Amino acid sequence: MITDLSKLAARRHEVAQALAAVLPAGCVLAAPEDTRPYECDGLAAYRQMPLVVALPHDEAQVLAVLAVCRGLGVPIVPRGAGTGLSGGAMPIAEGIVLSTARLNRIVRLDATSRTAVVQPGVRNLAISEAAAPHGLYYAPDPSSQIACTIGGNVAENSGGVHCLKYGLTVHNVLRVRVATIDGDIVELGSEAPDAPGLDLLSVFIGSEGMLGIVTEVTVRLVPKALCARVIMASFGDVVTAGNAVAHVIAAGIIPAGLEMMDRTSVSMVEPFVHAGYDLDAAAILLCEADGTVEEVDDEIARMTAVLREAGAGAIAVSTTEAERLRFWSGRKNAFPAAGRISPDYYCMDGTIPRKHLAQVLTGIAQMEVKYGLRCANVFHAGDGNLHPLILFDANRPDELHRAEAFGAEILALCVAVGGTITGEHGVGVEKIDSMCVQFKPTELAAFFAVKKAFDPPMLLNPGKAIPTLHRCAEFGRLRVTNGALPHANLPRF
Ligand SMILES: Cc1cc2nc3c(=O)[nH]c(=O)nc-3n(C[C@H](O)[C@H](O)[C@H](O)COP(=O)(O)OP(=O)(O)OC[C@H]3O[C@@H](n4cnc5c(N)ncnc54)[C@H](O)[C@@H]3O)c2cc1C
Repeated sequence: MITDLSKLAARRHEVAQALAAVLPAGCVLAAPEDTRPYECDGLAAYRQMPLVVALPHDEAQVLAVLAVCRGLGVPIVPRGAGTGLSGGAMPIAEGIVLSTARLNRIVRLDATSRTAVVQPGVRNLAISEAAAPHGLYYAPDPSSQIACTIGGNVAENSGGVHCLKYGLTVHNVLRVRVATIDGDIVELGSEAPDAPGLDLLSVFIGSEGMLGIVTEVTVRLVPKALCARVIMASFGDVVTAGNAVAHVIAAGIIPAGLEMMDRTSVSMVEPFVHAGYDLDAAAILLCEADGTVEEVDDEIARMTAVLREAGAGAIAVSTTEAERLRFWSGRKNAFPAAGRISPDYYCMDGTIPRKHLAQVLTGIAQMEVKYGLRCANVFHAGDGNLHPLILFDANRPDELHRAEAFGAEILALCVAVGGTITGEHGVGVEKIDSMCVQFKPTELAAFFAVKKAFDPPMLLNPGKAIPTLHRCAEFGRLRVTNGALPHANLPRF
């Protein structure tokens, strides 16, 4: 690591010059006032100025950037829209940020084969907007879909409200083109239902920018349902609401969306969007049915019966499309609404078996007392994917530290009940220590072996997502015998 500021400035100059030699004018940012907007992603508590930012226009220029970095040994942090919540696109002091913002063309949309070929910087929502005239849309719908890019979605295996029924990114992407650190273009996956060979597409999706740069994505489009309606059900306590989620799925129903918001979430969002939420409820569930009119009527009736049986109080069902969108608007705006009641929030992302929802929500309530911080729960309940928003004020001494400890304890609880430390936001820098809780040394060694196979010089987003065994040892989650770590050959950055 370069600590001498004059040496860092000289290195910046060297890298910027080399990139400027292979890119058109205006594609390299090096002055601090230009690179400042890239110092963090959606996890704004962690910041780092990059050495240089490169903004290539096309695949050939991406390859040129990679060649320069390979030659000079410069780490590369890929970046889409920077909405990631785990610090995946957070810069490295001696590395460049490679932004895909200018690779933003929809290359082809084929309504007959229900596919679209798009560049990585295309926004998630822009795909559905382009497909709408054909009665089609792209199903994975992160709440950030107005801004986040398909390249970022691929790297994070993003989900959203409708993923319970329609699947995550991995279920809706058919093929990706990838620029490798060696300077090749490889295509992973295919438009055919199955492809021979190892399924490297599945390995790549969710790899957080550590294996290659996505330069093109072929997505599956699905027909828009003829009809959709949503139930809003109120509950007197979160435990009953959590159990109701398990009952809906156990009844053999797969809703198009099944989301939960607790009282804190409802009270922060209702004055913001006026969605018509029940302010007296301890928790509300939003359960959507889609399909033909008859299918929707049938599913709404069955879900209503299950919810009533499970202890729901007031139940409202949308009767118009405008009302359906209004019910969802509160859920979709929950994160921004948190900013109205708290200077900072820390959004966690863990997944648990649905049957443990009530237990984990009770555990989180106890942690609120232990850490002296409020927590709003708004999440993809049908998937068991929690998003506790820990509310804190970074200006108060120790609150960030307490929020981090609170978050780590939530993730440890998720693992303890058989869940995982991330549902859809990735590991990045935020949850790297929690990876030591989730995985054994041999499993981490296998991850590094895959990383090394794609990226031998270890230049792509190093230090993210996979903890070194030294890091786990420092975190106290690895047994060190006679002062020696197992797998001493693994990287130590
Ligand atoms: C308000 C809000 C709501 C959100 N809601 C959801 C939600 O419902 N579901 C969900 O899953 N996520 C959600 N997110 C998280 C975030 O939007 C997603 O992770 C999204 O996929 C990130 O896309 P991005 O373009 O912003 O990527 P970035 O944040 O720029 O990057 C994310 C990761 O992808 C890598 N990357 C980006 N582009 C490429 C590329 N071309 N090639 C290789 N690697 C690349 C980066 O290195 C980084 O590791 C939310 C975020 C916010 C702020």
